[in-house]
Amino acid sequence: MMKKSTSLLGFGCMRLPQTPEGKIDYEHAQKMVDYAYENGVNYFDTAWNYHNEESELFIGQALKKYPRESFILATKMPVFKLESPEMTATVFNRQLEKCQVEYFDNYLCHSMNRDSWQKAKDFKVVEYLTEQKKLGKIKNLGFSFHDSADQLEGILDYTDWDFVQLQLNYYDVATGDAQQLINICNKRNLPIIVMEPIRGGFLSRCVPAAIEKIDAAYGENKASALALSYVFNIPGVAVTLSGMSCMDHVVDNVNTAKAPIPMDEKAKEVIDGVLAEIKAFKTVPCTKCAYCMPCPAGLDIPAIFAMYNDYKLFGNKFGFRREMEKLEVKPGDCISCGNCMNACPQRLEIPQLMQDIQAEYDGLQF
Ligand code: SF4
Ligand code: SF4
Repeated sequence: MMKKSTSLLGFGCMRLPQTPEGKIDYEHAQKMVDYAYENGVNYFDTAWNYHNEESELFIGQALKKYPRESFILATKMPVFKLESPEMTATVFNRQLEKCQVEYFDNYLCHSMNRDSWQKAKDFKVVEYLTEQKKLGKIKNLGFSFHDSADQLEGILDYTDWDFVQLQLNYYDVATGDAQQLINICNKRNLPIIVMEPIRGGFLSRCVPAAIEKIDAAYGENKASALALSYVFNIPGVAVTLSGMSCMDHVVDNVNTAKAPIPMDEKAKEVIDGVLAEIKAFKTVPCTKCAYCMPCPAGLDIPAIFAMYNDYKLFGNKFGFRREMEKLEVKPGDCISCGNCMNACPQRLEIPQLMQDIQAEYDGLQF
């Protein structure tokens, strides 16, 4: 069980502001961390692979000036990147160095699904991490999860986990098996850490008609607040991570954590209306996590889905053509190798979607 008390809002370090060269903008990101910390956020979540392996270095640097016991630092074992059981120790020790800490408060097996869990078992990753816990280098051990309810039960039965990290938001609860996952954790009294509460930003800028409904009910720019307030209210949720990319996001989210939107009948009605609007558009529910990358054929998978979703939401076929023409590698160049599907936490049928997008584009009249 997790002992230290966590803030309602956690700072996710996967979408930090970047320089034009694609490196983390340390100055801007440091200000965001400072603001969050000064306003009560004490949970910081990073991972080996975020920002091309730069995220852990950044947060280690950013938190160095604060007393170690005043913040909760979480990072993750990139099981999907391990090439041998021995690599587990190499990665773990390097993470301690990168983050400039003696221990991690929360440590996770990253992105567990049927395949990665099998690998974790084959490589005895949990056994290694349990050893580190005994040595005091990990306070709480958990895993982030992207698969079905039966897989979750199987992983939970394996050892005495301290917490589980789940992708939860009102879209996934309404359209997937997220509610089942919540029930399983609640039954076992396991704290839940929420990731993707705004679905990679999708719920804050989805269908214009949906946003209008939120504006009418709560005033402008409340879509993120509504999505966050929804997950704050889920039973068993210990902390909700938001991957914030600018100071406005931090200020907004901190304010929401201080005064969430009440989850009453009005909120339920607004959310139902938003879901109906989203459903009418058939966008691709990609969260831009980029776990599917790189693609051997050179497709920029998340960028293609983002471009396609913009077209579906706003209906600008000329803008769609402009973006398609810019692409060096088109959706139709997918060779259906399937590599991306194994890595995609949303279990998207990526090769089929690429074909469909290309066919839809080819069928457009200009
Ligand atoms: S299936 Fe297509 S999109 Fe996916 S990795 Fe292979 S070539 Fe790339
Ligand atoms: S296609 Fe899947 S893995 Fe790739 S960015 Fe989207 S959600 Fe992530």
